[in-house]
Amino acid sequence: MAQMTQIRMQEALRTPRSQALRIAAIVCVLLLTALQASAQPAAFEYRLSFPSPEHRWMEVEARFGGLPAGTAEIRMSRTSPGRYALHEFAKNVFDVRISDAAGKELPFERPNLHQWNVPGHDGTVVVTYKVFGDRTDGTYLSVDAAHAHMNMPATVMFVRGQLARSARVTFVQPAGHQWRVATQLFSTSDPLVYTAPNIHYLMDSPTEFSDFSLRSVTIDDGVNGPQTIRAALHHDGSDADADAYIRDVEKTVREAMKIFGELPKFDAGTYTFLADYLPWADGDGMEHRNSTVVSNRGALRNPGQRAGILGTMSHEFFHSWNMERLRSKGIEPFDYEEADVSDDLWFGEGFTNYFDGLILERAQLMPTEALLADFAGIINTVTLSPGRQLRSAVEMSRLAPFVDAATSVDRTAWPNLFISYYTYGSAIAMGLDLSLRDRTDGKLTIDSYMRALWRQFGRASNQTPGAAPAPYTIRDLERTLAEVSSDPAFARDFFQRYVEGRELVDYAKLFMRAGLVVRKRAVGRGWLGEANLQPGPGGARVTSMVPFGSPLYKAGVAQDDVVVSLDGTDLGKAATVEQIIGKHQPGATIPIRFVRRAGEKVEQTITLEEDPRIEIVPVESAGGTLSAEQKRFRDAWLNAQ
Ligand SMILES: [Zn+2]
Repeated sequence: MAQMTQIRMQEALRTPRSQALRIAAIVCVLLLTALQASAQPAAFEYRLSFPSPEHRWMEVEARFGGLPAGTAEIRMSRTSPGRYALHEFAKNVFDVRISDAAGKELPFERPNLHQWNVPGHDGTVVVTYKVFGDRTDGTYLSVDAAHAHMNMPATVMFVRGQLARSARVTFVQPAGHQWRVATQLFSTSDPLVYTAPNIHYLMDSPTEFSDFSLRSVTIDDGVNGPQTIRAALHHDGSDADADAYIRDVEKTVREAMKIFGELPKFDAGTYTFLADYLPWADGDGMEHRNSTVVSNRGALRNPGQRAGILGTMSHEFFHSWNMERLRSKGIEPFDYEEADVSDDLWFGEGFTNYFDGLILERAQLMPTEALLADFAGIINTVTLSPGRQLRSAVEMSRLAPFVDAATSVDRTAWPNLFISYYTYGSAIAMGLDLSLRDRTDGKLTIDSYMRALWRQFGRASNQTPGAAPAPYTIRDLERTLAEVSSDPAFARDFFQRYVEGRELVDYAKLFMRAGLVVRKRAVGRGWLGEANLQPGPGGARVTSMVPFGSPLYKAGVAQDDVVVSLDGTDLGKAATVEQIIGKHQPGATIPIRFVRRAGEKVEQTITLEEDPRIEIVPVESAGGTLSAEQKRFRDAWLNAQ
């Protein structure tokens, strides 16, 4: 609104009919500016400085003006947008001082660990504090001599009930450095000063302050006009590595764009990859509205790490539609005080997971065999994990606060009780895409569904930085599938059985439509169950949870036990588990000797089963012939769109 008014006034000034009109226009501008100044409270002012970055802490001065009378409740966040566990960012805050605008100290109370209550103030509260941070990823804060990598919830305090206020952030150059700022915050004429229209947007705006390499590319989707996609790369690679990266980014963005038919309308026309590929970084990818943090311990030049780096890049960019704008009601608006719980992470994360690989494969940045191997891994996980006997994809989504970068010191049974909603949701997306293609001979695909959802729930978010005004519920997702497929019974059945129920589509039948054979990968070979058996001098130690119902489980073997011998052969010697069970058919019963954690020696028998895991191979390399119809189906699915 403010910008629009100014543009119109400038146009008026350019063609004055008379001096009087010109003066009137100037008076008008001044009056309007004064009116706006009185109508809108001043922005919250944040000053971020780095007196000795090598010691991994920074200083924050937050000037909260225009506060209503009564106690000001100032808080550190417990959560971070895109993450679902509690991270308790207040733990790293120290040396907190609170004063009024004139610098007079104000008394405060601490009702809990996350909050500073200031009962007596005159409308302005100035908080200064230091905050330690030494983890380079998408969730935390990292300050060192090479950069300040700031996730805002880990860095800045906010005032309860004042999330609609705007913010102005000044980055203070550390002595001896010439760092630059990469962020989705809105720029000003000063390259060290940025703004956010509201506190949600501020919290959603991670910032890299360092001597990074910048690469950019302009892409016009034909709907929103040319927009800039840039990568701020803080890495130890070469210029050529950075050039190659932005080329891969461009291919990925162009292929992703075809799924929705348009890019999101990025605020300020720019989307930024904040990429930290450093030996001391931790692997992560965190989506935001106009940016993402992608971090990896690896290096761009290392071909072995390229697949992971590109996979995360593709995944996070897809989130700029699915999650950032097309957003579940469970996480909108985001709560900074309690864990955010969504029924729909199987969709927000899982569908994104399905597309990130598919997009890379279509863009020829990933071999088809690698994509099929990923698909096989997803099918194996959802088919075989015991967790599916207990919980649906919706119920798995609700567990995110326990499993998404959550840590606990006690051992949990997650390997038996949980299937990642990334994997589970990916399996559902794959099943939906193939089912739609199958029942309409390729006329409808999952893309049609994503576009319909984007139109109904996503696109409105283009207009409102810091908010998704039309978040969806699971019933909205079902209703839209009913509309797209023109078949409410199909949509009901699909949600009831595969999303809210615990059934799986017939993957073998659906993949065969594309001439892809889903077959057991080790027919006729004995199998003990998927547990890690670590060879050692006394035998093979079980170093993972033993899956419910597996041959090992039935034989009474548990984590930390040591399997001393199998089929009469000592495992402490050269023989491996694979060599021994490889001699037997599934169904064979063989002796097993093991020592329980508490020292009890057990002699037992174990009945081998057939390895149930599958692989996916093209029919033409499995001794069959690819029909013209299968080829058409496969090309439409896996080739560039
Ligand atoms: Zn994700």
